Amino acid sequence: MKDLKTTKGTMGGLELSATLSITAKAKAMKAAGEDVLSLCAGEPDFDTPEHIKNAAIEALKRGETKYTPESGRPDLKEACAEKFVRENNVPSSAAQIVVAAGAKFSIFSAIAALCGPGDEVILGSPYWVSYPEMIKASGATPVIVPCSAENNYELDPEKLKAAVTSNTKLLILNSPSNPTGAVYRKETLEKIAKLAIERNFMVLSDEIYEKLTYEPDFPHISIASFSKEISDLTITVNGFSKAYSMTGWRLGYLTAPKWLTDRICALQSNTTSNPTTFAQFGAIAALKGDQAPVETMRQAFARRRDMIYGLMSDIPGVKCIRPQGAFYIFCDISSFGLNSWDFSGRLLSETKTAVIPGQPFGADGNIRLSYACSEQTIQKSVERIRGFCSKLK
Ligand code: PMP
Ligand code: GLU
Repeated sequence: MKDLKTTKGTMGGLELSATLSITAKAKAMKAAGEDVLSLCAGEPDFDTPEHIKNAAIEALKRGETKYTPESGRPDLKEACAEKFVRENNVPSSAAQIVVAAGAKFSIFSAIAALCGPGDEVILGSPYWVSYPEMIKASGATPVIVPCSAENNYELDPEKLKAAVTSNTKLLILNSPSNPTGAVYRKETLEKIAKLAIERNFMVLSDEIYEKLTYEPDFPHISIASFSKEISDLTITVNGFSKAYSMTGWRLGYLTAPKWLTDRICALQSNTTSNPTTFAQFGAIAALKGDQAPVETMRQAFARRRDMIYGLMSDIPGVKCIRPQGAFYIFCDISSFGLNSWDFSGRLLSETKTAVIPGQPFGADGNIRLSYACSEQTIQKSVERIRGFCSKLK
């Protein structure tokens, strides 16, 4: 008899997302009455702006409860394409847009529609936890190129060049970065674009944290904006979760060359179909409506960034780079002689402070702290971390 429990297909062996599972564990401890402070959450702590919620409520009331085209409503795709052209200088059209149930699915479907067994996908580490799992799900092989804090966690174009082979199909970039908060500089992106054109591989640029940058010297730049040659090789991914505090709405989108969006549409038409219809009306309101709430949230994150960076870098034995974007800070805790799971596990059990270990981001010896929480939570939890570190020393 075949063993139904141990045999599995390419997608049956994926790891649970460490970010989601540790965040859920901290929430459950808190719900059970424990005094847990969580620096885990990869989601803004603000409510979705009112005009966005109202647009979805109105749509629901009007009876917008039926299927739409699998890649999204034509007016939403038009709004996404306009946004890419207007804000990012990335060539796009409605036919080159696919809206999905979250940027996570946009990234997954782009990788799955492009890559398969025998293909290599290059990724700089630290990387967002889900990328290697998605690559493995497609049957392709992740090729990891380590990046260093000294180089602002950017991929070194020379190291990238050395990792490219005739099997390289795709490079994944994420700027601003989860988990490091680093923002790529233009010179680096230009060198990477040149290499992609010379060696003929595609680039998936995950720009979901685009709106959250804090340094005039480190603006967000879309790699696909440089030339037609590179935009013809780029999949640019964005979403509503971070910019508009819409994590639970599950809406993301991408633009790519039409030959690839056709394939992604086919994949989506046989899997999720369209993202939730009335939620799409909220998405249109987000893109076309008042952008002031985005700036208000960005300013709050900027203040918290300064606060957490100041407090964490003041702890003896902890090293961190000043994040230029997103809402994470990545701290080197290797001087304490514990791996990142042991460090964060003991931190949680001994001080009731939850952080994400660096190992699932491909960078053990580090921890990721999210500052998508109140200034008071930041202050109190860093005090606990400081006490914990002083005991370890
Ligand atoms: N990319 C990165 C780097 C992320 O951190 C996240 C986290 N949510 C996503 C993509 C996916 O976002 P969502 O599916 O909520 O749109
Ligand atoms: N992306 C966020 C994080 O890294 C949310 C959780 C997830 O989707 O992985 O924490």
